[in-house]
Amino acid sequence: MTVTSHNPADPADLVLARPAFEVAGTVRAVESARARCADWIALGAAARSVLLTRVAEAIEAHAAELVDLVVREVGKPLAEARGEVTRTCAIWRYYAQAPYAPTGAVHETAAGEGLLLTRRRPHGVAALITPWNFPLAIPTWKAAPALAVGNTVVLKPAPEATACALRLVELAQLPEGVFSVVPGGVEEGRALVDVADVVSFTGSTTVGRAVIAAATARGVPVQAEMGGLNAAIVLPDADIEQAAADLSAAIAGYAGQKCTATSRVIAVGAAYEPLRDALVKALDGIRPADPSAAATVCGPLISSAARDRVVRAIDSARATGATVVAGGTVPQRAGWFLEPTLLTDVADEHPLHTEEFFGPIAVLLRAVDIDEAIALANATPHTLAVSLHTRDLDAALTAADRLDAGMIRVNAPSSGVDFHVPFGGTKAASHGAREQGTAALDFFTATRTVSLLPSAASQ
Ligand code: NAD
Repeated sequence: MTVTSHNPADPADLVLARPAFEVAGTVRAVESARARCADWIALGAAARSVLLTRVAEAIEAHAAELVDLVVREVGKPLAEARGEVTRTCAIWRYYAQAPYAPTGAVHETAAGEGLLLTRRRPHGVAALITPWNFPLAIPTWKAAPALAVGNTVVLKPAPEATACALRLVELAQLPEGVFSVVPGGVEEGRALVDVADVVSFTGSTTVGRAVIAAATARGVPVQAEMGGLNAAIVLPDADIEQAAADLSAAIAGYAGQKCTATSRVIAVGAAYEPLRDALVKALDGIRPADPSAAATVCGPLISSAARDRVVRAIDSARATGATVVAGGTVPQRAGWFLEPTLLTDVADEHPLHTEEFFGPIAVLLRAVDIDEAIALANATPHTLAVSLHTRDLDAALTAADRLDAGMIRVNAPSSGVDFHVPFGGTKAASHGAREQGTAALDFFTATRTVSLLPSAASQ
């Protein structure tokens, strides 16, 4: 098999074509990584910290090149690509301090003599299976903590983002076998789960479930962050213009291809009409455009298949009574573009209410009060992030208590993640330990309890 990636804004532009590793190459990559585990942990905290800091420095030194590659390979708009590269550096710097973090605690022994210690140790070879939409940041927020605590890492990126992953690992310049890439697709992903010591997956829910099942059957630790179907609740007292600006960014930014994008807008009571009008105006103002232009918010979708799926959803919603109040058409230009789209009156049974479409599209719903809005927001198993727009602190506190989401963002778009705090969804959106922050250090290690007793009974 050949791994290929194309520029989504200009599909004639072939970004990468190279042979996949296949099963044998994947197993060899893991064997090489395993052979390096002992040396990597034996390097010690100071040396690992220096090497991870150098990764950040290398990325910083090549930032412009990486930004261009992200724009070209996955169609991310320039401003967001710059943000991703900056964040990638910051994540490496943050985890470069982690080798110095305490790895356990000292307890009194029950019998009185000696010491009782806990100590977190790495699992061995960490398999990272990643999606294409954050081609540097997601591999980094998995690899940096895994490496910091002494695992070696084999990364299997999405085929669509393989050039970014290869360049990241090349720039990292870590010792041979410590951080490597397996170019490939399904076959390589499966093979990796079959031989690694710990698995961290981000991607779609269907694939995530298969990865969880395979890793669990082997008894290796696994975490998975999967698809989202994120709601935004707008109360009548909200600053409607500001809410519309936040929501249009969360619906159309990067063509809606973020796991935290908003796909269901729930307007409460009298907020409905003014919000609809403000949102239509805001979305109409976001034209799908060349991602390499500084002002672009909404670039192309990742592939023609991805765009066709969204277009089919718009057509079937319209055919069953929905109204397209913004966007809905495919611009006449090369590249997999689609106008940011908002629909009202979508039939209850339509998949737009229950499936992630991963495009610049949202449905507008009406709720009589905050209780109904929270119930609607919670009525999906795929909740990663929910935003609430209000000036009412009591309403915000109520929502923070009752929204069943991994991230609850008051007066902020649902999209947006801080890398130094735990990140993940609820219910079907997430499995296992949280990512990012110090939670990632826990996931990539297992606790050992050590009893240290005197060599002879005391007199
Ligand atoms: P995907 O599930 O198609 O692929 C993800 C990765 O899994 C790729 O590397 C792919 O090659 C690999 N893979 C595919 N089949 C496999 C198998 N059977 N075994 C092992 N590996 C396999 O996802 P995608 O299209 O690359 O990314 C988009 C999806 O990712 C969306 O659903 C989005 O919501 C999700 N996502 C989630 C988060 C989050 O943190 N929750 C973040 C970003 C993206």
